[in-house]
Order: sequence, then C-alpha cells, then structure tokens
Amino acid sequence: MIIVMSSRKKEDVEQVVQKVKEFGYRPHVIEGVERTIIAAVGDDREKHRLTALESMPHVEQVLPILKAYKLASREVRPEPTVIEVGGVKIGAGHFCIVGGPCSVESEAQIMESARIVKEAGANMLRGGAYKPRTSPYSFQGLEAEGLLLLEEAGKAFGLPVVTEVMNVEQVPLVEEHADMFQIGARNMQNYGLLKAVGKSSKPVFLKRGMMSTINELLMSAEYIMSEGNPNVVLCERGIRTFETETRNTLDIQAVPVLQKYTHLPIVIDPSHASGHWDLVTPMARAAVAAGADGIMVEVHPHPEAAFSDGPQSLKPEKFVNLIREIRPLLEVMKKEVTYLP
Ligand code: PEP
Ligand code: MN
Repeated sequence: MIIVMSSRKKEDVEQVVQKVKEFGYRPHVIEGVERTIIAAVGDDREKHRLTALESMPHVEQVLPILKAYKLASREVRPEPTVIEVGGVKIGAGHFCIVGGPCSVESEAQIMESARIVKEAGANMLRGGAYKPRTSPYSFQGLEAEGLLLLEEAGKAFGLPVVTEVMNVEQVPLVEEHADMFQIGARNMQNYGLLKAVGKSSKPVFLKRGMMSTINELLMSAEYIMSEGNPNVVLCERGIRTFETETRNTLDIQAVPVLQKYTHLPIVIDPSHASGHWDLVTPMARAAVAAGADGIMVEVHPHPEAAFSDGPQSLKPEKFVNLIREIRPLLEVMKKEVTYLP
C-alpha cells in the first residue's frame, strides 16, 4: 500500500511509520519533490488492514500498489531517481559512460584501460575480477587480486568502479573494494545474491537476464530494494532471439518501456548486446536517442589479445570516436555527464 502524507514533517511521518510497523509491514519512506509517501510492503493478503491508517492525522490517502513490484514502481515514486556511485550521478538527466575491459587481466592492462577511458571522457570504470564464463576452461578472472587492481586503477584516475559479484560469499570483499556491485545477466534471478546485495549500502548495477522479461527484471530489482537498498541501476544488455548475426538482440524498446514503469535509471550495454565491435557505436547512439541514462562499453588497449570478449571490445581510438559521436546527441536529449573533481 502507498500512504500519501499531507505533511512532510519528520515527526508526523515517524508516527505513521511506527503504525505501519505495528501492523507488521516494512515502511519505506520516499521523499518526493511534491510530497512524502510511505510504501508499506509485506504480506499482500492482509494489506486492506492498512486502509485504517487514513484516520490518522496528516495521512491524505492510503492506496493499493497495483504492480507486483512496488518500490521499483513509478506508482510509488513518480519522479526519476538519481543514483550516486562514488560521486558520479546516474539518472534524471545525469548520463553515465562506463568504460573498461571485460576482465581485469594485469596491473598494466587495467591501468592503461583506466587512462584510456578517462581521457576519452568516460566517468566510470568497469572490469571483471570474477568472471561468469560459459566454459569452465575459459579464463575465470583474477578474483581478489583483480578486485584490488581495479580499485587501484579507479583511484588513480578518479573513476568510480563497478565489478561483478557472482555469489554471496564474494559480497563483503567486493563491497569493500568496489563502488558498485554488478549482478550479471546469468545471476539476475539468483535471489540469494539479490538479497545479499540488498542488505548492502553500495549501489547495484543489475543486468537483465538474456532470457528474462522486463517484468522479471523489475521483480529482481524489487528483491534488492525490499532488503533496504534503494540504489539500483537497470541494464539492458541484449536478449536471446532466433537471430544469429549478433550475439544477442538489443531490446532498445526496453528503455521507454522501463521508463513507463519504473523510476530507476536504465543503462544500455551495446557490447554484450551485439558481440561485434563495429556495432557498438551505432547502438550507443541508439541508446542515447532512446533516452537511456547511460552506456556500459567494453574497451581494451589491445582487443586482439583480450582474455575475454575481445571481438566486441573497442580499441582506444574507437572509444574516443564513440564519445565524440554521442556528445551532440546527449545535448539534444538534455543529458549531462558528471565527472569527479
Ligand atoms: C560482463 O559485463 O562482462 C558480463 C559478463 O556481462 P553479462 O552478465 O551481461 O553477460
Ligand atoms: Mn564481457
């Protein structure tokens, strides 16, 4: 249920929050531009009892939330949300450009990658330390060592870092050394992992499963948010279709569809969507034009020598060109890229 408050005063809101708890529901206070609302989440079967709260002072209305996802829904928060990642803003006009290699391979490689993406105009660094590979014989990532190298590279170039966490056991270490968790496509419905990052204070970059619907993506975001972490960025990274010319099919419509249903920012990953470096820039342009809140692009100093995803990784000069090409589009779409000082 949504409890719409007529007062924004802390003590008035607190009174209702206490009452919601007494009913056995979890209150999530959302302070919007216009008004404060309290989302009461919990057992759906008994929710009608909460309508009694309408008799409390400063409660304007108690309304049911119609969507199965609640905290992620626009019903609960009509205005777009801004997520902050180590000082960089994403959403509501703030566009993020995340660049970096698929995997962290060595100190020299990640340092060079960070320099390249920073100079090109990216504002965040990516790099996988724990890699979910289709084959157990493929490079599995440098793991904890990779995480430390990524952290060091991010600090050296003033770029917040995002990296994949593959299981619950890795959460504390990734939380300590990264600015943002990445939940990979293969783990989008790993509910134990979603709950674990939901208990963290670090933001989460949630990638859509390659065989997941938009509704399922939002339900996964809800898992994270319902544990108390409201800082979720959604990522469309291509879905599996009958088409074999590309690695996946970029569902560009997911951007306006998601914007209709959720206040959370939505980022496009044209690298995993296409699988070919020469498709990445056109799809990045499409992402901006569709209204996305950012892009995540794989960039490697030497794609031909990459340990993973070389064919879809951009060479440094191609990434420079990509950013050059999207700048005028960003202006048209009234998006700003913020940089750390
Ligand atoms: C990645 O970002 O390198 C990755 C493995 O992505 P996805 O989970 O979308 O396949
Ligand atoms: Mn990759």
